[in-house]
Amino acid sequence: MTKAIYAGSFDPFTMGHLNILERSSKMFEEIIVAIGTNTSKKSLFNPEEKLEMITDVIKESGLENVRIILHTDGLTVDLAREEEANVMLRGIRSVTDMEYEMNIASMNKTQAPNIESVFLMADEQYRFVSSSLIKEIAQFEGDVSGMVPETIAKRMIEKYKNM
Ligand code: ADP
Repeated sequence: MTKAIYAGSFDPFTMGHLNILERSSKMFEEIIVAIGTNTSKKSLFNPEEKLEMITDVIKESGLENVRIILHTDGLTVDLAREEEANVMLRGIRSVTDMEYEMNIASMNKTQAPNIESVFLMADEQYRFVSSSLIKEIAQFEGDVSGMVPETIAKRMIEKYKNM
């Protein structure tokens, strides 16, 4: 059986991310959601807020083999080694995602040849769901229901109100 790391910036965690976890939880013994920070993107939520929100969502979803951790420093392959995980799980929505992910996977392979990258294609209804677009919509009080879990939609509205 295999253990997978699902790393991302999850700013915020979307229904697309949840869909990947629901599908992959049937494929792996355990999935570790590793909350990181993408240095090239400005984040709306801090890592602790993300941890709290994703923990709530996973609890509600009833997925039992998903664990959530913060990993804001260091390489994901090093985390995988520490956790004795043998798979890096990623989602792919488009050809653009594919190119980006292939580069990451190749770089990871140079660092840890025994760790495999596994990709799941986004389900049709989530193909256009992206954290950055959701932020743009929520920022101008648009409707993001159906794109993010309800609790997260609420947190986003609060966040933008207090800015
Ligand atoms: P990163 O900044 O590391 O790309 P993200 O939080 O944006 O982190 O995404 C984490 C992973 O989830 C990536 O592999 C990304 O392609 C995938 N992903 C993002 N949105 C979706 C979606 N709607 N459906 C499927 N996979 C997705």
